[in-house]
Amino acid sequence: MKSMQSIVTKCLETTTSKMYGQPNIAVIGGGVVGITVAKLFQDQLKNAKVTVLAEQFTEDTTSHIAAGIFKPGTSFKGPTKEITKKWVNDSWHYWQDMLKTPDAEQIGIMPLGTYIFSKENYHVTRNYLIEDLMPIYRPVTDEELKLAPVGTKFGSYFLTLKAECGRYLPWMEKIIVQRGGELVKRKVENFASLSNYDLVFNCAGLGAKYLCDDHDLVPIRGQVIKVKAPWVKSSFYGDTDTYIIPGLNGVVTLGGCRGYASYNLNNCKYDAASIMERCSEFIPSLKDAEVIAHKVGLRPHRSPVRVEAELIDGVKVVHCYGHGGDGVATAPGTAIDAVEKGLNFLRSNTRNKL
Ligand SMILES: Cc1cc2nc3c(=O)[nH]c(=O)nc-3n(C[C@H](O)[C@H](O)[C@H](O)COP(=O)(O)OP(=O)(O)OC[C@H]3O[C@@H](n4cnc5c(N)ncnc54)[C@H](O)[C@@H]3O)c2cc1C
Repeated sequence: MKSMQSIVTKCLETTTSKMYGQPNIAVIGGGVVGITVAKLFQDQLKNAKVTVLAEQFTEDTTSHIAAGIFKPGTSFKGPTKEITKKWVNDSWHYWQDMLKTPDAEQIGIMPLGTYIFSKENYHVTRNYLIEDLMPIYRPVTDEELKLAPVGTKFGSYFLTLKAECGRYLPWMEKIIVQRGGELVKRKVENFASLSNYDLVFNCAGLGAKYLCDDHDLVPIRGQVIKVKAPWVKSSFYGDTDTYIIPGLNGVVTLGGCRGYASYNLNNCKYDAASIMERCSEFIPSLKDAEVIAHKVGLRPHRSPVRVEAELIDGVKVVHCYGHGGDGVATAPGTAIDAVEKGLNFLRSNTRNKL
């Protein structure tokens, strides 16, 4: 029996294709948000022609630098508490569903046991956004407390997952193209230049700052070291933004730092030294691990994250940007919301912001 969702989608598809023939959709952005939106839109409207326009794809995006752990910060924020929670929940279920497929490893998804420790602050070991979602989220035992540096008083352990964009993005891009979509390397200067599209998704990450003249969008600089350390099996978080996140092929991401409103994309040797020193306090053998790369990225921070429809210069635009340090984790939930707004916008004759 067909589900109600598929009947509704079918009806919508028929109505929309009657209105537009083949709707012409542009997605600005080839990072985790844009690529997820493009694929989910194709899922919903199979006859749409989806074109992803991006200055950079795959390994040149911020998304590619991220370890991709599912651990949204407690300050991650949508327009309301309910919407924030829905985005987080939908994202978790999206990644969980992928984790359960035989292709999970190829898509870059893996389960991950994670510790958060603190010397001073109990509250940083709690996370109201995810505690009810995870199959395990508990205080650490006295024995586990010994895994952290001397003086550590508080800790939690939880079972989460991570999504590596190095695999996820090419996997999704391939599906988009197989379905007739296109990936075009191009900088979009303004929305008016996209007037030939029926609908545009703005998933430009930090690039949205210039496209929308959005002063609420601020870079938060991050730096990480990627090392080969296959013996690390769990993630560790400590005070002063310290983290150790193992991934596929024995590659471990060591971090980190947060430079508010910094546009500096150069590797800083002082940050690197500090990261290595702090991570080695947890696992001393990391000092001898082979360094594969130093990476720097600018997190596109906005509070709240913007998922909104707007008519700009006669072009129907749905924004989906500003995910800060949580964009890999939360891309799916916000993408589901953006796609729904896009489908409604496509059908409507609206001349104002929805
Ligand atoms: C060091 C570091 C570690 C991180 N770790 C994690 C983590 O573990 N978990 C997590 O969930 N998140 C993490 N993040 C955050 C995550 O990387 C971001 O939230 C996420 O990548 C944002 O995705 P995005 O698609 O919005 O942006 P991006 O990946 O930056 O993609 C933006 C896209 O838009 C394109 N673009 C921009 N302007 C234009 C234009 N005018 N015309 C055409 N194309 C344009 C770009 O070329 C690019 O393709 C981390 C970030 C950093 C820096």
